[in-house]
Amino acid sequence: METTNTARDVHGELLGLDAAERGLVRTAFLAMIEGEPITLDDLARRADSRPAKLRNVVTRGLVTVDEGDVVVGAAGLSLVPVPRRPHRMLGDGRAWWTWCAVDAVGIPAALGADAVAETACEWCGTPVRLELRAGTIANATHPEARLRAAALAETPYRPGAPERVAAELGPARRNGHSGGDDWYDLAIVGSGGAAFAAAIAATERGAKVVMIERGILGGTCVNIGCVPSKTQLRAGELFWRAGRQPFGGIRTRAESVDLARLVDEKDQLVSTLRREKYENLVGEYGWELVRGEARFEDAETLIVDDRAIRADGFVLATGARPSVPPIPGLDRVDYLTAQRSWT
Ligand SMILES: Cc1cc2nc3c(=O)[nH]c(=O)nc-3n(C[C@H](O)[C@H](O)[C@H](O)COP(=O)(O)OP(=O)(O)OC[C@H]3O[C@@H](n4cnc5c(N)ncnc54)[C@H](O)[C@@H]3O)c2cc1C
Repeated sequence: METTNTARDVHGELLGLDAAERGLVRTAFLAMIEGEPITLDDLARRADSRPAKLRNVVTRGLVTVDEGDVVVGAAGLSLVPVPRRPHRMLGDGRAWWTWCAVDAVGIPAALGADAVAETACEWCGTPVRLELRAGTIANATHPEARLRAAALAETPYRPGAPERVAAELGPARRNGHSGGDDWYDLAIVGSGGAAFAAAIAATERGAKVVMIERGILGGTCVNIGCVPSKTQLRAGELFWRAGRQPFGGIRTRAESVDLARLVDEKDQLVSTLRREKYENLVGEYGWELVRGEARFEDAETLIVDDRAIRADGFVLATGARPSVPPIPGLDRVDYLTAQRSWT
C-alpha cells in the first residue's frame, strides 16, 4: 500500500493540525503501513517533536497506541479495532479498521486489489459485507449494496489501469476541411459538463468544433442534477435547523414552507447558472451549437435531423440514465427517477 507525504499533509491541514503534528501523524502512519512496530518515544524522536504535540495527536485519536505504547493506528486507519473506526477491511494479508467507509472500499478500488469490507448500516444496524475483486464489488450481503453493485455491473464502466495523459497540450490537428461548412475537426454529442470541457479544450487549441444537443443545454448537472438538488437540500436543511438548533442563546423558529416559491427560486438559480456557465461560453469560445438528436450514419458522419455533420474526431458525452431496480409492481405505479423529479 502506498501513500504520499502530500496526501497526508492535505489530510492534516483539513484536520487543523500544525506542521509538527502533521509530521507526527505522517511518521506514525508510514511506520504502521510498512509493518514496523514503533513506540511513542521512537515517534517523538523520529519526528523531532515536543511532548505537547505528541499528547495532542494521541488525545485527538490521530495516533493510537496499544498498552505497550506501540503505534497501532494513525490518521484514518488502525491495525486493531478502536472507537470511531467502524469499518473493517481485509486485504493485503492484513486486517485494517477505517473511520471512513470510502477508505474501506476506495483503497482496494484505487489499487484494483482484492479485499473484503465489513461494516454495518448506519441507519438499521444490519451487517454489510462487500467482497471486492480487482477493485470492483463482486459480492455484497446488504440488499441495497447488491442493487448498487448490480446497477454498476450493468454499465460498461470498469476500472482500468491508471493512464498517464499528456501533460502539455500540442497544437490541434487541423483536418484541412475547416473551411467547409459541415466538416469539423471535432463533433461533440451532448452539452453537459464533459461536453463543455472537451469543447473548451479543443477550441482553445484552434479546432473547429460543433456541439449537438437534443435536450436542454447544459445537460444533467445544471438542469436536473447537482444544482437543483443541492439548492433544495440546502433549503430543507436550513428549515430543519431553524427548528432544532442547539443554542439557547439564539431564538429561531421553523414556520412554514412555501414550496412553489422554493421551486421558483431553484428555477431562477438553474437558469442563471445555465446562462453564465454554459450558454454564454458557446459564443465566447466560438464553437457551433446544433439542436437535435445525433446518430451515426458512418464512421465520419453524424445525422442531425436532415443535416449531415462530418468530423475527423468525435466525443460522445451523452451522459447516463437512471437504473430502475427490479422491484415487483414498480412498472404499475408512477415512480420518480432523478431525471423526472424536477420536471
Ligand atoms: C440528482 C443528481 C444530483 C447530482 N449531484 C451531483 C453533485 O452534487 N456533484 C457531482 O459531481 N455530480 C452530481 N451528479 C452527477 C452529475 O450531474 C453527472 O455526473 C454529470 O452531469 C454528467 O455530465 P455529462 O456531461 O457526462 O452528461 P450529461 O450532463 O448528462 O449530458 C449528456 C447530454 O447528452 C445529451 N444527449 C444524449 N444523447 C444524445 C444524442 N443522441 N444527441 C444529442 N444529444 C444527446 C443529453 O440530452 C444530455 O444533455 C448528480 C446527478 C443527479 C442526477
